[in-house]
Amino acid sequence: MPIFDLLGMVSLQQSSAPKTTKRARVVTLGCRLNQSESLLIQDKLIKAGYEIVKGDEPSDLNIINTCTVTDRADSKCRSSIRQLIRKDPNAITVVAGCYSQMGYKEVAQIPGVDVIVGNQQKMNLLDFVDGQKNERPLIVRDKIDKEDFSIHFVGEHLYNKRANLKIQDGCDFFCSFCIIPHARGRARSRDFDNCMDEARALADRGVRELVITGVNIGTFASQGRGVLEVVDALNEIPGIERVRISSIEPTTIPTELFSRMNDSSHALMPFLHIPLQAGCDKTLEAMYRKYTIGEYLDFLHLAYESVNDVYLGTDIMVGFPGETRDDFEETCQVLLNNPFHFAHVFTYSARKGTPAKRREDHIDQLEKNRRSLHLRRLSEKKRYDFYESWLGKTVEVLIEDPKPALWTGLTPNYIRVCIPRKPSDPDYTNQKVRVLLKSVAADFVEGEIA
Ligand code: SF4
Repeated sequence: MPIFDLLGMVSLQQSSAPKTTKRARVVTLGCRLNQSESLLIQDKLIKAGYEIVKGDEPSDLNIINTCTVTDRADSKCRSSIRQLIRKDPNAITVVAGCYSQMGYKEVAQIPGVDVIVGNQQKMNLLDFVDGQKNERPLIVRDKIDKEDFSIHFVGEHLYNKRANLKIQDGCDFFCSFCIIPHARGRARSRDFDNCMDEARALADRGVRELVITGVNIGTFASQGRGVLEVVDALNEIPGIERVRISSIEPTTIPTELFSRMNDSSHALMPFLHIPLQAGCDKTLEAMYRKYTIGEYLDFLHLAYESVNDVYLGTDIMVGFPGETRDDFEETCQVLLNNPFHFAHVFTYSARKGTPAKRREDHIDQLEKNRRSLHLRRLSEKKRYDFYESWLGKTVEVLIEDPKPALWTGLTPNYIRVCIPRKPSDPDYTNQKVRVLLKSVAADFVEGEIA
């Protein structure tokens, strides 16, 4: 599950569309997949004649694309919905996505919500907006399709030059803690040619780096092609210079990807984010994960030894029911003693309808918080050490959104680099520049144009 960037709210950027009387705002909570779907919704809004607003600008239509991966995500969705309704009381409010799918009854209790759309009709949400506020919310929560799909919109990435490309949705793995197979349905793939159509359209819009997204992208299968063929086909698209795979389940990664990552003429970046979830076999088994810790680590070391300068990230969940202090300590040791460069740490949250929720050995919240804090500190240290090992080297950075005082971008192996901006600098936006890495700051490295 791609659960990095969780709970980050993203307000979409203002479009350059001609001014109209209809204004819309899209607010996104949750994962990278949600962010990519919001950008597709934004494209649809622009085509329907809406101007996209951001920040405090008034809006006629507010769309909130929600997340339900934890209790905290649900509560953040509710407060974001209330906040938007207070800001624009006369605007039409549409609540879409995973929390609408699973928690529609709670959403319907919030005064001012006009339309609640689950995941099946998320991309068609405009069909349920008739320009009027509703006395009672309209609830559209169809059964989620099992069929493969196409998307005939192009993510509207006006200021972010690194674009997400959704190739897959849903999951059949049913890990015992996870609500996603219920919220997003069974695994299905986007039509291969349709994926390439969007990739080419993004390249035409100036995008140079694509991030392949989905719920369980290693299971992608369309027209006899898998994720390897997707990567190779993206490599052939003129203008696409970098391809990254966002997060991929350990048992689904073709090792042929390694040679692509090592080939300097191939666009695939040396980056792998492989969810571990727990570092002890007892917990992995209770989570219904599909590997033992030994199998996971064998693969991790193979990737580390096979791919030059590779970045290896992971997700770890703490406080799963029945996780003892010794189990947790095993997980800490696995993180410390293996070539991980960063771990996104998540605290277990009981989700209705999942097998883990029915267990009777839940961990006290304070203890979960303590474990989470401890593991986050270890993870910060791992990242610091990784960044520090790169100081003094000159690397290629693709500059993304310029900030007033900074140029910022990523190296091929996912080091976030910031460069102080000088008035005499040319416009480096969306350019690759050589940067000397000089010092580690909190979660980035400061550099200087070489
Ligand atoms: S069921 Fe497991 S593999 Fe599927 S989305 Fe959830 S955590 Fe990821």
